[in-house]
Amino acid sequence: MSLEIQNIVDSLMAGESSERVSRQIELKDRHCAEMTVVPFRDHKYRPRVILVFHDTSEQKRVERVLRDFVANASHQLRTPLTSIRGYAETLIDSPPQDEAKRKEFLEIIHANAVHMAKVIGGMFALAKSEREGKRPGELSASVEQAMDHALKNASFAAQDKGMELVLAPLPKDLPAAAADPDGLLQIIVSIIDNAIKYSPENTKVQIAAASDGQTVTLTFADQGPGINPDDQTRIFERFFRADGNGVDGSGSAGLGLAICRHIARNYGGEVWVDSPTNAETDTGSVFTVRLPVA
Ligand code: ADP
Repeated sequence: MSLEIQNIVDSLMAGESSERVSRQIELKDRHCAEMTVVPFRDHKYRPRVILVFHDTSEQKRVERVLRDFVANASHQLRTPLTSIRGYAETLIDSPPQDEAKRKEFLEIIHANAVHMAKVIGGMFALAKSEREGKRPGELSASVEQAMDHALKNASFAAQDKGMELVLAPLPKDLPAAAADPDGLLQIIVSIIDNAIKYSPENTKVQIAAASDGQTVTLTFADQGPGINPDDQTRIFERFFRADGNGVDGSGSAGLGLAICRHIARNYGGEVWVDSPTNAETDTGSVFTVRLPVA
């Protein structure tokens, strides 16, 4: 099976040592095992060995899940932290004269801190659900509330680039999505965040929501550079970043969309992109999130 195991067995069978040997070994398909080779002598005093394999794949998988979790959590915490920093710096450098405005800024800072705490909780829940391989049950999230929260959060970044975030009036009878409210918020925040980050200044992001009774569909259309067909599935992979989109090392890690897709699939939903949206200029992307109705 492996040269290393063969050599250990050969040396023990040759009677070179009577010490037992333990090794971590990697097998095919991400399987791994802890192997112990125990030498002994049979009734005719011939050298023999017993090999014991203890399957440690599950333990290693859980370790991998936790490692990914740390990377994901830090990425997700950056957005609310940027917002907290923006509002706090405004309060320090040029505090609004208006008491009500100051209070509003403090409330946004507070809401973001609360959100960060929730993201951490959510990520733990996600890691746990991944570990246990179960989908969360009875879930319900208001699209309106999530949109509202996400748009408030993104307003600073959008203003900085002179961009407009346009939410089409939501259908009156829009049902809740079968998602955890924080999970839904995370998906929306990440997609809007990207639309702002990758689009040129003074462009629009058009956001809409609709339902066919079975699913709730959210769309986010930007006027950014678009995503070439080869990359349209790859942008949802962990750590993938498309080249040539004019964005330098701004600290993005290529995790946002991977987390979005993972969360959406956990709820039995899906996230995808269509691009370009403008055939003439070959630009623009529409990100669609589809989730089951609660
Ligand atoms: P990050 O933004 O941290 O790099 P994401 O997973 O959110 O990671 O996005 C992966 C890649 O997809 C980005 O690096 C970017 O190249 C591309 N991308 C995402 N959203 C857009 C968009 N709205 N327009 C153009 N490219 C995008």
